[in-house]
Amino acid sequence: MAGRLQDKVAVVTGGCSGIGLATVRRFAEEGAKVVIADLNDELGAQLAEELGGTYVHCNVASKEDVDNLFKVAHDTYGRIDIAFNNAGISPPEDDSILETDLEAWDKVQLVNLTSVYLCCKAVLPYMLEQKSGSIINTASFVAVMGAATSQISYSASKGGVLSMTRELGVQFAREGVRVNALCPGPVNTPLLKELFAKDAERAARRLVHVPMGRFGEPEEMANAVLFLASDESSFMTANTFLVDGGISGAYVTPL
Ligand code: NAD
Repeated sequence: MAGRLQDKVAVVTGGCSGIGLATVRRFAEEGAKVVIADLNDELGAQLAEELGGTYVHCNVASKEDVDNLFKVAHDTYGRIDIAFNNAGISPPEDDSILETDLEAWDKVQLVNLTSVYLCCKAVLPYMLEQKSGSIINTASFVAVMGAATSQISYSASKGGVLSMTRELGVQFAREGVRVNALCPGPVNTPLLKELFAKDAERAARRLVHVPMGRFGEPEEMANAVLFLASDESSFMTANTFLVDGGISGAYVTPL
């Protein structure tokens, strides 16, 4: 039986861990040819071999690396149907605005926001030429909600990803290219574990606001990305796709 992404070519940044890794696996299961971009060369090469895809070393904050990534994908497979621009960081030095210095601010903006600009800019010419394509940019629920437990540059970067996505979705809607934002709630990945591993109280402080009473799993994000990537979401663009266990709809959570 043909998969939901049979023979489509998909580029996934940050494909070696967490949400990106689960998505790469899900895409491959559904018949896509996957191009994995990351900094983790050992794991990336292993994954590419396991899934019959391609690994490209790519720092998403570098224009040269990003341009090369999409060129390799296009040169290898002749087209690019899906770009999941997902790589992102959440370092501890990004905190309250009162503590966060310019260096920490800039680092997060580069990896989380400038990277999405670079990836969209690099992939759009290929998709416009084909007159088809689905771009999914990973924002976050913090792009639509404020937190008193702030990571100021992270939240601002994700707000930027969300507005850029909306604008691109509108601009290219009549040219066959869809652009949507995935807004995950808190998800059980190394990124989140790093933040809360040493501090159960910090985790609990957040968990109480999730109506479902648990963090999401990477596979639950991968299913949502699969939907946005596939033709099943053909009338969706410029969308804020919240997959968050109800957090953005909650006022008071169940006891
Ligand atoms: P993760 O840390 O598990 O994986 C991120 C991957 O990106 C890693 O493989 C890492 O090597 C790669 N990466 C980091 N910097 C890179 C760079 N400069 N160039 C290329 N690759 C780089 O993270 P995750 O939790 O899966 O997060 C994925 C995305 O989802 C991020 O954009 C994150 O902000 C977003 N997000 C995560 C959560 C969550 O709770 N985990 C919630 C909302 C949004």
